[in-house]
Amino acid sequence: MHPKGRSSRRTFLALTSGAIAAGGARGPRPGPRADQLAMLGGEKAVGRPMPRPVRFGEPERERLEEMLGQESLLYWKGPQTTLLIERFQGVCPLEYVQTCSSGSAAIHIAVMAAGIGLGDEVITSPVTDIGTVIGVLYQQGVPVFADLLPNSYNLDPEDVARKISPRTKAIIAVHLGGNPCETEALRLLADEHGLILIEDCAQAWGAIDRGKPIGTTGHIACFSLQNSKHVTCGDGGVVASSDDRFGPLLQPLGDKGMPRAGGDGLFHRFAPNYRMSEPQAAVAAGQLTRLDGIASTRSRLGDLLSEEIAGVPGIEPHDVATGSRCVYWFYMFRLRPDAFTCDRREFVRALAAEGVPASAGYIPVPLYGNPIFREHAFFAGRWPVKEMGLTDMDYASVSCPEAEAILGDGVRLVINEAMDEAWIRDVAAAIRKVSAHFSA
Ligand SMILES: *Cc1c(COP(=O)(O)O)cnc(C)c1O
Repeated sequence: MHPKGRSSRRTFLALTSGAIAAGGARGPRPGPRADQLAMLGGEKAVGRPMPRPVRFGEPERERLEEMLGQESLLYWKGPQTTLLIERFQGVCPLEYVQTCSSGSAAIHIAVMAAGIGLGDEVITSPVTDIGTVIGVLYQQGVPVFADLLPNSYNLDPEDVARKISPRTKAIIAVHLGGNPCETEALRLLADEHGLILIEDCAQAWGAIDRGKPIGTTGHIACFSLQNSKHVTCGDGGVVASSDDRFGPLLQPLGDKGMPRAGGDGLFHRFAPNYRMSEPQAAVAAGQLTRLDGIASTRSRLGDLLSEEIAGVPGIEPHDVATGSRCVYWFYMFRLRPDAFTCDRREFVRALAAEGVPASAGYIPVPLYGNPIFREHAFFAGRWPVKEMGLTDMDYASVSCPEAEAILGDGVRLVINEAMDEAWIRDVAAAIRKVSAHFSA
């Protein structure tokens, strides 16, 4: 039996309206109780399916129509790519912009431009998409994982400082979940040690980093347009910089090492083909007209959820820095393990039963916990830099305790731009209800 016997206003209304409908003759039948967990037969806290955004329409169609009249679909000086770059610069005002095939490609281009080579160390977060480090490994650099802050889930600058060695060349700051990092502290560290700061903004389209557009604090910024991101063209990426050392390299490094302007026709650099063609650029340019609305709605709704669950015992909301705008590519709160009589799995199951799309954690293990890292088997089962004695990295013995704790007790929720405040308040009510039920 549930410890608290009071019935909520919702149950009262449900019961009385039921009684009115029945003419009041039979009196109220005992309905499901609102404070009873839905999992145990109670009324769901969220009584409607999750709102889903319509992602594509007129702005994209208009671009694609125009594109079909073109003679060429190559990106170089293509009208769709040109417009995409212009609109990108409206969002992230950086001078040199190269469109490319994915966020992973954008980061690989950035890493190449930063000159990462054999055995060079790049410090980054272990809780991210593997695309953050694929390029580092392909350049024969060594990803070094630093620990995270407990409630923003972003790099802890103090641990980054501890991980700096004579081999460190760069830091990749991941704005996880669209939540701006401690970018300024990381930039200071980078400047102090002569490191290059790359921002992984894949999840952070439209975020504001302490008053500045996301991606404008570091040396090079990388974005993804992959389907799961909140603006997309199916697959795509953008890499950009205002630094004259790196900016001019972005185009050739995304295009087989070939400068499209001012080259001598000879290859001076080695690079993959990471080009984005005009169809992707057309869709992406259309999508960027939606970004303002998407980002501000997501930010407002996520912040509202934090307000609504602030002070719930045992729950730690997603922490966003003052003056920053988080765009909540996901929302994650943490469960204080000793505050509840259930484990996280049970908590998530109960939330899901209330009608809240919820999942346990984010990725199953930190990047270093994956077999490919533990076995150092990156290149046909081998890792040349280790065999050459250029690193003594042993991913099997890496540990970032806070990152592991976050993945162990975080509960992830969906925020999207089709939701409204009523939806968020219902989600918050579900969290309060499940928390109260399992309160230790
Ligand atoms: C999606 C993502 C990437 C990789 O982008 P792709 O376009 O999928 O290659 C990199 N970093 C983060 C944080 C991401 O979310």
